[in-house]
Formats: sequence, structure tokens, C-alpha cells
Amino acid sequence: PASSSISAESISELTRDTNYGTWRFQKGWKPLHVVDAEGCWFTDDAGKRYLDMSSQLMCVNLGHKNPRVIESIAEQARELPFMGPAYATNARARLSAKLLELLPAGLEKFFFTTSGTDANEAAFKIARMVTGKNKIISRYRSYHGSTAASIAATGDLRRWAMEPAGKGMGFVFAPETNCYKCPIGHTYPGCNIACADYIDHMIRNEGDVAAVLVEPIVGTNGVLIPPPEYLPKLREICDRHSVLLIADEVMTGWGRTGKWFAVDHWNVKPDILTTAKGITSAYVPLGLCATTKKLADYFEDRYFSHGHTYEAHPITLGPAVATIEEMQRLALVERAAEMEPYLRERLEGLKTKHVSIGDVHGIGLFFAVELVKNRTTKEPFNTMRDKVEGKPLVVDQIAAKMMADGVAQQSWVSHFVIAPPLIVTKEELDFGIDALDRHLAIADALAVQ
Ligand code: PLP
Repeated sequence: PASSSISAESISELTRDTNYGTWRFQKGWKPLHVVDAEGCWFTDDAGKRYLDMSSQLMCVNLGHKNPRVIESIAEQARELPFMGPAYATNARARLSAKLLELLPAGLEKFFFTTSGTDANEAAFKIARMVTGKNKIISRYRSYHGSTAASIAATGDLRRWAMEPAGKGMGFVFAPETNCYKCPIGHTYPGCNIACADYIDHMIRNEGDVAAVLVEPIVGTNGVLIPPPEYLPKLREICDRHSVLLIADEVMTGWGRTGKWFAVDHWNVKPDILTTAKGITSAYVPLGLCATTKKLADYFEDRYFSHGHTYEAHPITLGPAVATIEEMQRLALVERAAEMEPYLRERLEGLKTKHVSIGDVHGIGLFFAVELVKNRTTKEPFNTMRDKVEGKPLVVDQIAAKMMADGVAQQSWVSHFVIAPPLIVTKEELDFGIDALDRHLAIADALAVQ
């Protein structure tokens, strides 16, 4: 049809027929036609409202349609919609000043991108150029983005389609930190953080290691919170071997965990921090690779061989300033920390009722509910393999029922990621958790009683 005459009824169909559905089998994709969104809710073309329990892709931290951020997009478009990366602009300077104020101390030099994956690509290139080394150690349960190097650094199932032919060289995987189900068979406390020691072992044996890359709190793969000793110990190991520490805070940054950045919980200073998503509450596409001045100084007399047409795009930077100012005005970082006990209590309450919940873990407004067939063995209902092979997943069946009840809940392999906008109220949390409560019966019926 002519673009001016698309009927409301055909929007979903036309989208499905002409667009790729991401990370899924194309068959069966029926994209919901969304016409509006406000606060923690969005509305479909039939007027039905949905509570956004995972802030879309754990990114709309401010909630939908914040008027000041919307206005900042218009203001920036009127003032200066585009200048190339070689120029200074008001928006670029104002955001840089804000970043100096809020990022962990020592991160003083910035490279702006348009997503999380390209922020990580920049981090890898900088780490490799500065150290003259090639290998990056990342961890199995991780996601770092979809482009060439970031997907090679990714541990989870999304890497597999690129293997073996398309797999970027130079990434080696360490075990993740998971105190509910330790991949190397230990129990915390008493393990002396053997998972960090394993990385020390890898650095010594691999050689040619430029950097260790971690999500300080693993996001999509289960909101895995390391024990308090882990990141300080990893920092010490990296320092001892002159290896850089890269913190991927694409999902954990910007208040999600009750601090501006997840590393702030342990006062760990990475050499490079990458972020995106919440930096603009996802209203405009912005990513950031922030490095120490020491790394940046390397390039004073050497060619900085990296860039994009849209690096430091003004239309992304002005709204980032407005987003951060709104977060400060509404004290949303503090609010995420304040809401944590209530969310924890409600989810722990579900655990006492539902035999299919193996564990609940989280921090701030960032929680995972992990489902298991059997609480003793901790065996999950589904594996990553099941997902790429198109087997029906128990968590997806529950999420579909919740969606029918007006709750959009992210599900992944065998857990749910609960991460509503930071403006969420207790009543809204109740609405979402009650829907989960209602439909966990599906999993309970399949679990060992
Ligand atoms: N790193 C982490 C930890 C993420 O969660 C994501 C996205 O979910 C990315 C990187 C990639 O970000 P983007 O999707 O903006 O490329």
C-alpha cells in the first residue's frame, strides 16, 4: 500500500512482512501495534494498557514520555540537529561535564556512540591499541552486543549463530560468578572467590591478554550479583598483571541498581566503562565508552584510529543531559534503592508459595526470578539450547499469560528479569507481581513437589 494509506489494521502485518523480528524465529511473530506510552504503561491499538515490568529492554529508566526529555529533543533539533564529531557543541560540553560529575572517579575521556554494542567495540579497540595485546577475557553468562567483536565477547546463546565461521578472534571465556549455582562447584562463603582466581590463572596461562570484560552485575542472563569481594579482587588481579578492567554497564548504569553505576556498590574503578540504554532512557540512541585519562594520554602522540559519522551526535547528547537532570530532580537513583526491600519482600513471598521458584536475586529495581524443575538439583526448566532450537519455554508460556493480563514481562531461558521504570509505584509493582503469581501455577505443575 501507499505509505499514506496504511490502515490501522495492517500496521502489525506490514511490519511483520517487511521487517526482521530480532532474536527469534520469524514464523509466529505478530508484533503488537503500540500507539501510546506513558509512565510505566503502554497502550495498544485496541486501547488495552500494559504495565512495562522490564522497561522495554531494561532501558526506559525514567518511564515513558517524560515531558522534559521530549522537549529537550525538540530544543536540540531547533538549536543544532547535527554537527560532525570534529566540532565542539553546547550539548557535547554539557553532557561531558555531567559525566565527569557522575561517573566513577578517574573516567575522564569520552567517546560517544549510538548503542551499547558499538560502545563495547570502541572499548576493545582502545584496550588493544593501548596495550598492544589482543585477547579479551569475558564470561560465559554474558551479553555484550550484536556486532562483530561484541558478539564474539558474548557468552550466551546469541553468539552461536556466528560460530565457527563468523567468530571474531581473541575472546576467551571465564566462568561467571553465580553464587546460587556456582559453575565451578564451590559454595560461598568459603570458596575464597575461586571464580576470580580462575581469571588470574587464565591471564597467566593465556598470555597476550589486553583486558578483562565484565557486566558488574550480569543483566539479561539472570541479574547475577557478585559477592562483595569479587570485583575488588578482580581489580587487584588486573592491576597485578597490567591488564585493563572493562565494566559493561549498558544495562546496570543509570540508577537501575540503586547507585548511578553498579561498580559504585563496591567502589571499584574500571579502566573503561561502557554504557547506553538508561543514559537517555532510550528516547534517543546513545552509547558511551569512557576511559581513564591515562589510557587517553596514549593517543596524544599516536593516531586514534576510530570514529563514526554519528559520534557525539547532538540530537543524542542534549536529551542525555535532560534525562540525567530529570533523574536528579526526581531522585530516581535513591528511589530505586528505596523500592528494593519492597520488591524483594514481594518476590520472596512468591518463592514461599511456588515450588518452581529456585531463587530470587536482585538489587535496586533489578531482580531475577529463577525457575527450576527441582529445587534440590536446581535443574532449570529450559536451557539456552532449547531457545535456539525453538522448543516452547516454560517462562515464555507464563510471560504470554501475563501479557494477556496486561503485564509485559521479560523472560529469558529459565528466568524473568524484573526491571520496571524507576518511577514505578508499589501499587504498580503489585499489579505486575500478582500477574506472575497467578500464572506460576504453569511451572509449579511441572516441578518436583
Ligand atoms: N551490554 C549489555 C550488558 C547489554 O545488556 C546490552 C543490551 O542488552 C548490550 C551490551 C548491547 O547494547 P545495544 O543493544 O544498545 O547494542
